[in-house]
Amino acid sequence: MLKFYKATLVAMLLGAGLWSSASADDGQIRVVYPGAKKPEHQAVEKILKELRPFEAMADSYNRKFFFPRDVIIVVAETGQVNCWYIEQEHRIYISYELLDFLLELFRKVEPEKEARADALNTLFFVVLHEMGHALVGELDIPTTGREEDAVDDFACLTVHQVGGAARDQALAAAKWFGIMGSRKNNADLPFWDEHSLDMQRFYGIIGLMYGANPNRYMFAEKLVPKRQLERYVHDYPKKLDSWERLLAPHFRKKLPRGQNLKI
Ligand SMILES: [Zn+2]
Repeated sequence: MLKFYKATLVAMLLGAGLWSSASADDGQIRVVYPGAKKPEHQAVEKILKELRPFEAMADSYNRKFFFPRDVIIVVAETGQVNCWYIEQEHRIYISYELLDFLLELFRKVEPEKEARADALNTLFFVVLHEMGHALVGELDIPTTGREEDAVDDFACLTVHQVGGAARDQALAAAKWFGIMGSRKNNADLPFWDEHSLDMQRFYGIIGLMYGANPNRYMFAEKLVPKRQLERYVHDYPKKLDSWERLLAPHFRKKLPRGQNLKI
C-alpha cells in the first residue's frame, strides 16, 4: 500500500514536470495537515508530506498568479466524502475520506493496481476543480452559467495543457462520473443540484479532452454523434481562450496566447 502511493505520486509528479518551487511577497497558497487520526490516513499523510504533491501544485499556482491574500489547502480527515472551497475562509479542504470512497468505487470495477491509480488521479482532478473555484473566489473572476461546469473545464484545460500523465487525471474523473451516473435511476437524479448530472460531467470531460486532441481520444467517436464531436473541437480553443483572458490580469508573467494554463 505505502509503496504504491509513493510510486504513483512520484510518477505523477514526474509526469506533471512543470511544478517547481515559488517565491513571492504577496498572497500565497499554502498546504497544511492538521493530523489524521486513523492509521490508514496517517500512512497516506506521511507519504503526502514526504512527496509534497499538493505543495508542488501550490508552488506552481504561486508562480503563475498574484493572489491578494493567502489561501490554505487543508488536507485532513473531515468526516465527509468531499473536497470543497470556502471563499469566506479562503480555504480548500481535501478529505482523506474522498480517497477512501474512490478506492472502494474503483476496486469494484477494476484490478487493484488500476483502482489505486484511478482513485489518486481522480482526487488530483477534484483538487484542480477546487483550484478553479478558488481562482474564481480569490481573483473575483466572473462566471456566467454554472460555475461547477466552468471549473470542470478549467481542470480539463490545465491537465491537457500540462500534458503527459496529468491527462490521466481527467480520464479517471470521467470514469468516476461514468460509474456513478450508470448506477442511478432517472427518479434519483438530482436535477436541482448545482452540479451537472454525473453523466453530463462524464461527457463534459470527454468532450473537452477530445476537442483538445481528437486523435488521442478517438474512443469518444464510439460514444458521441459526429455533429457533437465537431462542437467539442470548436469549443476547446474557445474555452481555453476564455479562461486565459479572464485570468490574464492576475498572471505574474503572461505567455503567448494558448500557453498560459500550463499550471
Ligand atoms: Zn465544485
